[in-house]
Amino acid sequence: MEVNKPPKLRTLSSKFSVFTGILLLWVVAFTVYWDILRGTFSWEKGVVLCAFVLVIPFAISRFTIRALARPLKLLQAGITSVGEGQLRPIQISPTGDEIQYLGQSFNRMIQALASSREEIHQHHELLEQRIHERTSELEVAKDAALAASQAKSEFLANMSHELRTPMNGLLGMLELTLDSHLDKEQRDQLETAQRCAYSLLALLNDILDLSKIEAGKMMLEQVPFNLRSVIEDCIKSHAVKASQKGITLKLDHSRAQHNGVFGDPLRVRQIVTNLLSNAVKFTERGSVEVRLSTELHGGKIESNIEVSDTGSGIPKQKLGDIFEKFTQADSSITRKYGGTGLGLAITRRLVEIHGGKIRVESEVGKGSSFFVTIPFEPAQIPEPAPRAESHPAEQANSGGVRLLLVEDNLVNQKVVLAMLRKRGYQIEIANDGREALEKLESASRPYDLVLMDVQMPVLDGLETTRVMRRDPRWVKLPVVAMTAHAMTGDREKCIEAGMNGYISKPVQPGHLITTLERHLAGAAEARAN
Ligand code: MN
Repeated sequence: MEVNKPPKLRTLSSKFSVFTGILLLWVVAFTVYWDILRGTFSWEKGVVLCAFVLVIPFAISRFTIRALARPLKLLQAGITSVGEGQLRPIQISPTGDEIQYLGQSFNRMIQALASSREEIHQHHELLEQRIHERTSELEVAKDAALAASQAKSEFLANMSHELRTPMNGLLGMLELTLDSHLDKEQRDQLETAQRCAYSLLALLNDILDLSKIEAGKMMLEQVPFNLRSVIEDCIKSHAVKASQKGITLKLDHSRAQHNGVFGDPLRVRQIVTNLLSNAVKFTERGSVEVRLSTELHGGKIESNIEVSDTGSGIPKQKLGDIFEKFTQADSSITRKYGGTGLGLAITRRLVEIHGGKIRVESEVGKGSSFFVTIPFEPAQIPEPAPRAESHPAEQANSGGVRLLLVEDNLVNQKVVLAMLRKRGYQIEIANDGREALEKLESASRPYDLVLMDVQMPVLDGLETTRVMRRDPRWVKLPVVAMTAHAMTGDREKCIEAGMNGYISKPVQPGHLITTLERHLAGAAEARAN
């Protein structure tokens, strides 16, 4: 690369030659003038002097090229190559003068630069190596943590099954005994036992929910539903408790225009129910109000749910961590009202996995307000027709409906039988999947619905359903799963196998009957069309 090469006439050697040329010209001109004045001028002398004028600048030019220009050129080439990033010593002409000295100093500087660059390079490599080591250590730790978490959630899934099966028996038997003739004291004691069992179940569900969320296994359903109806249902289920305590419970939905949304109605219900039951629990007088409003924002429906109460309120210093697990505003609360302190932690996490936000405002003695904002995809659904209030007990007798109950556990069989017989269903029992298929095959009259346990010996519920779905006779027969598997993915597994619905154990009589009736009505409608 040519860097700053001077033009020919401005090189050092040409400057020297021109300077000595002019100087000599003056000397020659003065000598000739002097000779002419004194009359001693001779042509020979003149010619020799002229030759000097020509030769000496030329000689000086050659000399400067050799002594100055070449060493300087080498120096310049070296500097240029350093400028290009090559830290190599440059070539020095051994002239023994300042230029050589300059070159040597320059080389020392280059050596110093090169060694510091090498040092930096080594540091860099060391750092990279350390980063690599730390990263692989972290990866090992992460894998171990993941494996532990996996083991934990498997353990929970099993625990969940093991705990729910006896709970199912316990609650069912309590329900049945409470239906029989009891004296007042016995009824009182059994009702207490039933309340305890239900709160144990609620606690179990809370712990399982939280572990599911923390294991990242909480999957949200995406189905169309009416937001307002879900909230109205929550209000209804708290109405009795509120009126017992003498507080008013109201819903303001005047600013909720867009209620058809895609989402998980079960989890939205859980969010609102948690907030509402807290509000009712901590309010001794006054009111609990739910305000629902919706706004359209960039194609999404932003729903705002506010739950306000006139209850005891939360001290300012506690507001920060009421959404943490195992914290309650006051440990005396646990003694007074019970509860695990998991409700709000679950609520917050549920809101967050919906992509929403929750916040709280509160003043001690005046009450608290919880604000939940959740974005939903809009869904086209008809506004629900005002439903006639109906309770299973008041409904028409279901005589003539034939059910097949597939269940291996004797206690569970008894519980479900007792719940359903009262409603007038005709029920037959199969103890496992193989027996169920035999019963279906030999039935004198076709069944209207199958209630199917999942975990059974010989042939499990999933496999039995798959076999049924391959046979044209039973392709459309409604199958409702009834299982203690309450971890996420079980519902999906049942639906995948071809089942139509899902009830988790412990089975609650009201829920069992509404689910059955919904599927029976659906099947009847399908036949009519
Ligand atoms: Mn079973």
